[in-house]
Amino acid sequence: MGIIVQKFGGTSVANAEKIRVAARRAIRAQQDGKQVVMVVSAMGHQTDVLVDLAKQITDDPSAREMDMLLSTGEQVSVALMAMAIHSLGAEAVSLTGGQIGIRTDSSHGKARIKSISTERMKALLDDGKIVIAAGFQGIDEDYNITTLGRGGSDTTAVALAAVLNADACEIYTDVDGVFTTDPRLVAEARKMSRVSHDEILELASLGAGVMHSRSIEFGKKFNVPIHVCNSASFSDEPGTVIGSESESADRAVTGAALTKNEAQITVAGVPDQPGTSLAIFSKLAGVNVAVDMIVQNPGADGSADISFTVLEDDLPKSLAAVKKAADELGAEAVLHDASLSKVSIVGLGMATQTGVADRMFRVLADANINIEAIATSEIKVSVLVKREQALAALRAVHDEFELDRPPRDRVKFGETAAASRKADAVDIVARLQRMEDLTIESVSLDETQAQMTLFDVPDRPGVSARIFEAIASENILVDMIVQSIGRDGHADISFTVPRSELEHARRVLKSLSAELGGETKDEAAVAILTVKGIGIRSHTGVGLRMFKALNDAGINVEMVSTSEVRVNVVVAANKGEAGLTALKTAFADVLG
Ligand code: ASP
Ligand code: MG
Repeated sequence: MGIIVQKFGGTSVANAEKIRVAARRAIRAQQDGKQVVMVVSAMGHQTDVLVDLAKQITDDPSAREMDMLLSTGEQVSVALMAMAIHSLGAEAVSLTGGQIGIRTDSSHGKARIKSISTERMKALLDDGKIVIAAGFQGIDEDYNITTLGRGGSDTTAVALAAVLNADACEIYTDVDGVFTTDPRLVAEARKMSRVSHDEILELASLGAGVMHSRSIEFGKKFNVPIHVCNSASFSDEPGTVIGSESESADRAVTGAALTKNEAQITVAGVPDQPGTSLAIFSKLAGVNVAVDMIVQNPGADGSADISFTVLEDDLPKSLAAVKKAADELGAEAVLHDASLSKVSIVGLGMATQTGVADRMFRVLADANINIEAIATSEIKVSVLVKREQALAALRAVHDEFELDRPPRDRVKFGETAAASRKADAVDIVARLQRMEDLTIESVSLDETQAQMTLFDVPDRPGVSARIFEAIASENILVDMIVQSIGRDGHADISFTVPRSELEHARRVLKSLSAELGGETKDEAAVAILTVKGIGIRSHTGVGLRMFKALNDAGINVEMVSTSEVRVNVVVAANKGEAGLTALKTAFADVLG
């Protein structure tokens, strides 16, 4: 008999009536022939209420007692849920994390799961009971209650689904599913029937309202299909399945996102040699600033410009930190702009199709929107635009890629078979332990690319559209694209193409430089090093570790482009292997 895990978030158990609705849902699943494990969060904002109560007692509560306190929120809701199920005539048992046997380490407030025993849950399920597990908690070796960090019930749910080898993990929440973009910003936003784990991780701002990104990463590792559904929908209207596949096999773009309050900083005219990025990003890490998008192009004359974005609120302290680094490096200037937004398009299909980025650039040009910077990853293109044009930009791309319309070849909700998982519980738990802080999924080397640069093209709407349309019309598959922040009305644009297309790309570039002005440069062979994983953006440490490892190996970084889940750097072709070794060593402890 198949097992299903149903997780109910705080809003889905906020009052007695909602608890009854959830209880009915679980009973229905049981009547449909499933064994049911429910994972329940604290009612409504109860956890916040408890945090606030503690604050009224002391500014400095003991971490152990804080967990003792916060875990009660979930204990209340599981007990009420069990009563609701009993009153509806079915059998159920509520269990705390400790009673299930969720063992954690002793880091109160951010405990890591060390083991999960499945015997008790399985025996209860076999006995016909619905098991109701308190989310977000466990116990350490000395039976102290621990919590997994805010939002941790998602982690409990996906972890239980993985160790129980459940058919699926259903997440009941207060939204209908995952949308092609934020429906509050674009009225035409459409609920996707399915989306891949990778896409939702790149669409972080859309995913964030739905689930903890770590639990999505975990679902990906263990192939747990995650169904996001609205707990208020009575009709069992399908939500969104987060699984291994995209909604459509032949759509290049599946979602679009906006990060509104970005500020960019450019350190201009730094020596193009090992250690410069390290110097800058170590200063930022020192003041605990999370860097978002990093763009760096090859320099024209032995010097380079390094740009990155931070959240607008972090601008003052970032500037102060960066100015110190700039002085030490003898940089020409530190420039900044606090009024930008980031607009991104994401899609698994993008990795294998030409003519995606240029379509985005064209539709922005047609709306007279200037692109201030570009960064790409395998399945994402992000541009920075002026904040007052950001909404128009988001709407334009959503419309251009027809995201409001369901794809023709759509895989329907619930159509794919349950994934087969071979990993055993010990392996699952071992990975779970490593995933809390930062999981690096892979470190890789691509030795197939050549690099092309156009220096000093005019920084105005339509220029990137022109360049990448010209490249696409020649059927050259562009991999990485980086456009630096413009200076003095000019910007530099670099991209990589397959080495076999070098001559071809050179000819195109030459005619483009005749048309647009600006010098060209190319490297017949470069190496691309990629670190992929989650937590990259929130952990200033990743870029830093990467730059440090390359610096220690004496390797110069020529081009950088980042996304939510990847950092790509271009280095000289003959440094690829050494760079790969250096990075594998540097990330050995967090390689999932
Ligand atoms: N109740 C906890 C919180 O509010 C855990 C959860 O809801 O996931 O963070
Ligand atoms: Mg929650």
